[in-house]
Amino acid sequence: MLPTVVDRASRGFFDEAAQGRLSLLTCTSCGKRIHLPRPRCVYCGAADPVWKPVARTGTIYAHTVVEHQVHPNFPVPYTVVVVDVDGEEAGVRLIGNLPGRAEVSAGTPVVCAFEDLGQDAQGNPVVLPVWRVAPQRAGTAALDGGAAA
Ligand SMILES: [Zn+2]
Repeated sequence: MLPTVVDRASRGFFDEAAQGRLSLLTCTSCGKRIHLPRPRCVYCGAADPVWKPVARTGTIYAHTVVEHQVHPNFPVPYTVVVVDVDGEEAGVRLIGNLPGRAEVSAGTPVVCAFEDLGQDAQGNPVVLPVWRVAPQRAGTAALDGGAAA
């Protein structure tokens, strides 16, 4: 079963991901991020916010390892991470997961890749942003899909 990508509040997030962009809802009036998504800016009240790309890098704010399976699509173990997106105000965080018992801690640098799960029953592309531990700066390891410089 694929995740829903046509929810009114989050559809834009997944439409952007299908285009290879990690984007957050942004107010066209005051410029602040509206995260979690809402139809109006929570700071100035302006309507019609837009999805704008953000850095595809971040650092882990917190993590936990899930050992007890609660859904057949998420085999255990996996590591749930809360990521501070680089360049954003404090509190603009995204949640994701890493396969297995990831060797991470607060401050571990991560990069966003995209996992293409195909199409849902209505033909909408289902592409999920996924976080992976950033390759070593001095190393030559390349991330699938390429990391934004
Ligand atoms: Zn605003």
